[in-house]
Amino acid sequence: MLADLHNHSCLSPCGSLDLSPRVLVEEAARRGIKILALTDHNTCANCPSFAKLCVSYNIIPIFGMEATTREEVHVLCLFDTLEKALSLGEYVHTLLPPIPHDPERLGDQVIVNEHDEIEGEIDIYLGSALELGLDEIGPLVEQFGGLVIPAHVDRPAFSMTSQLGFVSAGPWSALECVRLPPTVQTLGYPLITSSDAHYPEHVGRRAFELPLHERECQQALAAGKIDLPLLSAALSRCRKD
Ligand SMILES: [Zn+2]
Ligand SMILES: [Zn+2]
Repeated sequence: MLADLHNHSCLSPCGSLDLSPRVLVEEAARRGIKILALTDHNTCANCPSFAKLCVSYNIIPIFGMEATTREEVHVLCLFDTLEKALSLGEYVHTLLPPIPHDPERLGDQVIVNEHDEIEGEIDIYLGSALELGLDEIGPLVEQFGGLVIPAHVDRPAFSMTSQLGFVSAGPWSALECVRLPPTVQTLGYPLITSSDAHYPEHVGRRAFELPLHERECQQALAAGKIDLPLLSAALSRCRKD
């Protein structure tokens, strides 16, 4: 099943104002993506409209965020329900340094509904590193009922490789790479690629095939939902190098 577990919306300061949750979901549906995650930087506040849109477009939603750890490593935190994601989002908001957001300089951070109408904005800069270490993020997200995938581990910025010099072991369900086969040591973890869309034209550019059995596909499509244990099991079947 075609999946894409890392995408931004207009709420991320570096995300295009044109990439509303509606545009993300519509573009993903057009490209045949069946499992889609919204992962804005350090926030889940656009997930409620994303949830409604996924129902309309028959896409299985994964709710989450791309958290920035104290070391400035980007990590995907993923949930199977909106409620769990919003709980983590609320907690993570308290770990953000109170730097006022400057939309002129840093880009907009707007919360929009399913009709692309702006309903609010976040006034603290979302691009900061959280008061949370890489060693703490796995246990924290697990406590909230989610799973964790370090983002773009082979990218020379905001990755384990760029910040630590290597991929470190942890409670990761998989590692996200920009390119496969990987150019870094990946310690036997399952490997995926994701689009990391910041603009409408990025949607679907690096979606991957999630290895699900036929019965599991039918079940997930009928329910409009994939439980995290099933997602985790399917991820464990992805290629490893
Ligand atoms: Zn990133
Ligand atoms: Zn990203």
